[in-house]
Amino acid sequence: MSATSIMVVGSVNLDFVATAASLPAPGETVTGASLARHPGGKGANQALAARRLGAEVRLVGRVGGDAMADEALRLLRADGVDLSVCRVDADAPTGVALIAVGGGGENQIVVAPGANARVLPGDLPSDPDGALIAQLELPVTTVVAAVDRARGFVCLNLAPAAAVPEALFARADLIVVNETEAAFYGSGLEGAPGLVAVTLGARGARLLRGGRLVASAAPPVVEAVDSTGAGDAFVAALTVALIEGRGAREALIFACAAGALAATRPGAQPSLPRRAEVDAALAGA
Ligand code: ADP
Repeated sequence: MSATSIMVVGSVNLDFVATAASLPAPGETVTGASLARHPGGKGANQALAARRLGAEVRLVGRVGGDAMADEALRLLRADGVDLSVCRVDADAPTGVALIAVGGGGENQIVVAPGANARVLPGDLPSDPDGALIAQLELPVTTVVAAVDRARGFVCLNLAPAAAVPEALFARADLIVVNETEAAFYGSGLEGAPGLVAVTLGARGARLLRGGRLVASAAPPVVEAVDSTGAGDAFVAALTVALIEGRGAREALIFACAAGALAATRPGAQPSLPRRAEVDAALAGA
């Protein structure tokens, strides 16, 4: 198989996850929590997911000139994501997500985008070859510029939900949203000429075009422990499968399996599956 080339334009974060017996109310302090730190950000997660599925991947983004940057990029480096177009911005901190998890698994998240908010159209490389994957954790103007300049397949993960110019929908070969985001964009998605994938958690996903169902798939039954990263694995896997020329239903089944595997392990980036694991899960299904 010849390697597929993908440029991801997106966020890089370091996630600080404090797990406590309960979440604090406004003004309250909860102590006794345990802390974990993981590399994150939808851009970084999707870049790593695509890389682990066999694509050649470069990531356009920014990290701060601080010690958090190395930690945020560590797994991307280990797996060979090309970071030559990921800038170190000495004037901003690395993006951080502060995640508080309560005893029942409920969470509260505060994101400080830091350097991610400073990724500008001028950061985009002049040779936008291959496919593009972008999300909405960067300034919308940068996402619009990346899509305008793209020459190949364009995948837009419209997350987190935000107001975007509808012209973006017109250029996307693939839009990926979860159920909450699908409700936010509403009928706007039906006017999109490309494929729209709606993920449904453990129920799998649907693929539509012009509001009409093209394919649906359920993931293999797994023991889910943490669905963080499942959506990112899904976005990368569906893009990789479609640009490899797989049919809509086959590509959707592949993406659902990748998402399910990511849900079987804790954290986002450590849980992203490799191609052999996805193939094995499908062979056993
Ligand atoms: P997001 O995290 O973006 O809301 P979803 O939770 O819908 O995304 O998950 C994306 C995909 O990952 C789903 O379409 C499904 O294929 C897979 N997935 C997620 N959670 C589970 C689960 N508990 N069991 C099996 N597959 C899952």
